[in-house]
Amino acid sequence: MIQNRHNPEIEINKNEFQKIGYQLIDRVSDFLDTIRQKPVTCGESPSTLAALLGDMPLPENGRSAELLLAETTELLFKHSLFNGHPKFMAYITSSAAPIGSLADLLAATVNPNVGAQILSPIATEIEKQTISWLAEFIGVPSNRGGILVSGGNMANFTGFLAGRTAKAPKSIKTEGVNVLDKLTFYCSKTTHTWIEKAAVIFGHGTNAIRWIVTDADHKMNNTILQETIQADIKQGYKPIMVIGTAGDVSTGVVDKLKEISIICKKYDLWFHIDGAYGIPAAIIPSMKKIFEGIEDADSIALDPHKWLYSPLEAGCTLVKDPKHLLDTFSSHPDYYNFDGAEGEMAHNFYEYGLQNSRGFRALKVWLALQQIGKKGYQKLIAEDIELSELLSDLAKANEELEAITQNLSISTFRYVPRESKYNKNENYLNKLNEVLLNKLQAGGEVFLSNAVVHEKYCLRACIVNFRTSKRDIEEIINIIVREGRKVHSELSQVIDFIKS
Ligand SMILES: *Cc1c(COP(=O)(O)O)cnc(C)c1O
Repeated sequence: MIQNRHNPEIEINKNEFQKIGYQLIDRVSDFLDTIRQKPVTCGESPSTLAALLGDMPLPENGRSAELLLAETTELLFKHSLFNGHPKFMAYITSSAAPIGSLADLLAATVNPNVGAQILSPIATEIEKQTISWLAEFIGVPSNRGGILVSGGNMANFTGFLAGRTAKAPKSIKTEGVNVLDKLTFYCSKTTHTWIEKAAVIFGHGTNAIRWIVTDADHKMNNTILQETIQADIKQGYKPIMVIGTAGDVSTGVVDKLKEISIICKKYDLWFHIDGAYGIPAAIIPSMKKIFEGIEDADSIALDPHKWLYSPLEAGCTLVKDPKHLLDTFSSHPDYYNFDGAEGEMAHNFYEYGLQNSRGFRALKVWLALQQIGKKGYQKLIAEDIELSELLSDLAKANEELEAITQNLSISTFRYVPRESKYNKNENYLNKLNEVLLNKLQAGGEVFLSNAVVHEKYCLRACIVNFRTSKRDIEEIINIIVREGRKVHSELSQVIDFIKS
C-alpha cells in the first residue's frame, strides 16, 4: 500500500488546485476591490464570534478543501477588522501591499527553511539582499548585517541581546546574569513596552531600566541621561546600553539621536535605536535631519510590517557589525552539517537570531521593495505624513476639536464641547473622549486608537495606510464631531443628574 503512496486526504491534484486556487484569487480580488465599502470592523463580541464557530470537537474525518476554503473566505471577510480599510488608523498597523498576499502563497509553496543556507539556497540570498536594501532604505551603509524577525518586539530583543553580549563582562555567557546584577539600561519614558519585557525575560528585572525623563517636546532629556549614567558608574553599576526611539508609539517623536550617540561613545555603551515605526521616514530627503545619528547606531529595529506596508509578520534588526549577532546566537551542534562543504562560508540565519527553523518572510518584503521602489516609498510615506498634518490642521480649525500633537504620521486631538461649563473640566474631557473612542471603534465607520498626552486622554490617528485619501480625512473629522456631540449630550445629562 505504502509502495505507491496515494494520499487523497492531503494531496490536491493539479486540476483541483487550479480550480480552488482561482476561486480563492477571485474572492480575494473582489475583497480588495470593495474594501472601502465595508465597515472597518464587524464589532461583534467574542462570544458571538465563538458561537459562530460552534463547539464541535476535533474533526474525525477530513472534508473537501474547496468547501473549506469557500466557507472560510466568507467567515473572514464578514467577521474581521480590516486594517487595510482607508479609515483604519489605529495603533501602528498598516494596510498590506497586495503583492504580499501573493508572495506569501509563493513562499509557502516553496517552503524553504531559512534557518540554514543549505536548506534555503536562493531564499538565504534574497534575505541577505533584503537586509542590505533595508539599510539603504533608511540611509545607513548597506553592508550592515542583520536578520528578519517577526516584528518590532523581536527586532528590539535581538538588538538588546547583541548589545548585552558585546558590552557585558564576557562571563555573562557562562555565569548568566546572576553575578552581574549591576548591569543598567537607559531609555526614555516613552519607550515601548518591549524594554520591560526584555528586562524581565532576559533576567535583569525592571529595576535595571533607568527611565530618563522627557522634555516638553517628548524627547529624551540627554543631559539627565548623561548625569544618570555618571551617577550609576560612581555607585558601582555597569551601564551597558542606551535606547533611542525614532518615532515613539504615542506621538511619533524622534529622540535627539546624534547627542545620544556621542554619549554612547564617551561611556563605551551600545547604542540601540528602536525605529520600529518611524525610521522608514528617513527615506524622505527633507526628513533626513530628524534622523541624524542613525548611522552611529550599533543596532536598529525596524518593522517592514508597519511603514513598508508588508503583511504581518515582518520585523528586522540591523547591526553595524554582524559579528555581535554571531557572538550572541551562534552554536554548532554536531547534528548540523551546515558549515558548507568547501570554499564559501555558509550564511546560516539560525546563527544570527533567536529562531532555528525560519520561514521565508523576506520574500514579501523583497518583492514590495522592488514593486514600489525607492521613489514609490518616498511618495507613499510623504503622503501619509501630509494626510496626518491635514487631519491635525482640520482639528485645529474646528471649534469642537483640539489638536494636541502632530509628528511623522501620528496626530493626537480630542473632542471639546463648546459650553464653558464643560470645556475646562479635564476630568470630564478625559471621560468624554474615552467614551467617544469606544463608540467610534464599535461603530465601524472609522477606527482610531488613543494616547495620553500630558494627562489628556486623546484620540490618536496613525496613518500608515496607502488607501487613506484626503476625502477620508475630511469625512473622519465630520464623523468625530457628529459622534462627539452625541456622546457629550448623553454624558453631560448623566453628570448633571448625579450632581443635582
Ligand atoms: C510597534 C512598535 C514596537 C513593537 O513592534 P511589534 O511589531 O508590534 O512587535 C516597538 N517599538 C515601537 C517604537 C513600535 O512602534
